[in-house]
Amino acid sequence: MNIPTRATLVLACLAITGGAARAQVPADLDPRIVQIVGAVSEDHLVAILRKLEGFGTRNTMSTTDSPTHGIGAARQWIFDEMKSFSPRLQVSFDAYRIAKQGRITRDVEGRNVMAVLPGRSPRRIYISGHYDSVAIAGGQTGRNSGGTQPIAFADPDSAAPGVNDDGSGVALTMELARVFSTSGVEFDATLVFMAHVAEEQGLLGAKLHAQKAAKEQIPIDAVLNNDIVGNDRGGNGTIDSGSIRVYSEGPEDSPSRELARYVQRWGMRYVPSHRVRLMSRPDRFLRSGDHTAYNQYGFAAVGFRESRENFNRQHDPQDTFEGVSPAYLAQNARVNAAAAAGLALAPPAPVIVTDKGQPTINRAPSGYDAHLQWKASPGATGYRIFWREAWGPDWQHEMLVGSVTEATFANTLIDDLVFGVAAVDSAGHESVVSVYIAPKSTSVDNGDVKLAPSAAAR
Ligand SMILES: [Zn+2]
Repeated sequence: MNIPTRATLVLACLAITGGAARAQVPADLDPRIVQIVGAVSEDHLVAILRKLEGFGTRNTMSTTDSPTHGIGAARQWIFDEMKSFSPRLQVSFDAYRIAKQGRITRDVEGRNVMAVLPGRSPRRIYISGHYDSVAIAGGQTGRNSGGTQPIAFADPDSAAPGVNDDGSGVALTMELARVFSTSGVEFDATLVFMAHVAEEQGLLGAKLHAQKAAKEQIPIDAVLNNDIVGNDRGGNGTIDSGSIRVYSEGPEDSPSRELARYVQRWGMRYVPSHRVRLMSRPDRFLRSGDHTAYNQYGFAAVGFRESRENFNRQHDPQDTFEGVSPAYLAQNARVNAAAAAGLALAPPAPVIVTDKGQPTINRAPSGYDAHLQWKASPGATGYRIFWREAWGPDWQHEMLVGSVTEATFANTLIDDLVFGVAAVDSAGHESVVSVYIAPKSTSVDNGDVKLAPSAAAR
């Protein structure tokens, strides 16, 4: 491969960050996604963060009587603001009456704020954060330093500005609601921009919504959850403004892991200046976020987390605007935008199982070949097959095949390799990879082996 000249590189960077020089977009990039990524505004993010900080607290059990302070004012502002972006956005409160339980000290109305940008198909891609905040005695530093006492929550109406946790995720979500709904692009998937409530009391807003979606069989293809994504300066002095962590639940080839790989592949293609670091665990050690609530109800969901955390400014009155870097948050928003736009423009991922859930891969025709079959995805004009050795986290090889629904690799052992297939359209948009996974073994009984009575006992 030729090494690009300096001039070419400069042009490519201009096109990617500026969005203005459309003609110079490299052929592998969709100019519409370049435009969406380029439309993310640091100034808008700053304005949202400042506004959210101004409510003083957004504790789920804080006041709903004030027009300027507490969760009632905050949720109404988020609602009105998203509604103002575009008539294409359908904004609503996804409301629940939550009973007193656990960290919920009285019956309370919890409202997720939800903005839907309808696509051609009902399958949904979510971008989310949680707008509630909390303060606890000693902040997160107290918890991390080995505190084993029960968590002492501050008065719900006392200061909990929550600019980073999770004003940052909400600002990112709201900014992408604006960018996507004003882009003029028609998406195949329906995009949902969601600000969850009651995350700090046990992911309650997300759980309630995921539970309802599972019950109503709403097809949620992907959830990109952002929680604490605005700060690049660790409390220990380490600074990293060039990367974002993405956590995903296993096992190796779970839908969430595949979604994480997609975010890395497509996020970094459109935002090459930002590195996506994948973490093969559900979340940080002994901590959790709303993506896990979606996992619990069977949906693919990943959690974005800033590169370096400052625990002094979490769950604490010190979680103020001074503790975030808007330029860094904007980069994380661009990665989300690229991944979500790619997913929403691509055909749905191919179905690679029978109606009974058996993977459609075998060793035919010789008994030593890899024979893959899949069902055609609506809108696909080709398929990309991926494979890697069975011991390895990332795809190692890929091959674009035409508009077919099977492929055979001679003398290739499906025992030693993992295979997957993605649907591709004529503009090069690519779905998440569907991975061939063996169902839990049915040929080996998991119970103990029964022994016959001994000869002496007979
Ligand atoms: Zn949080």
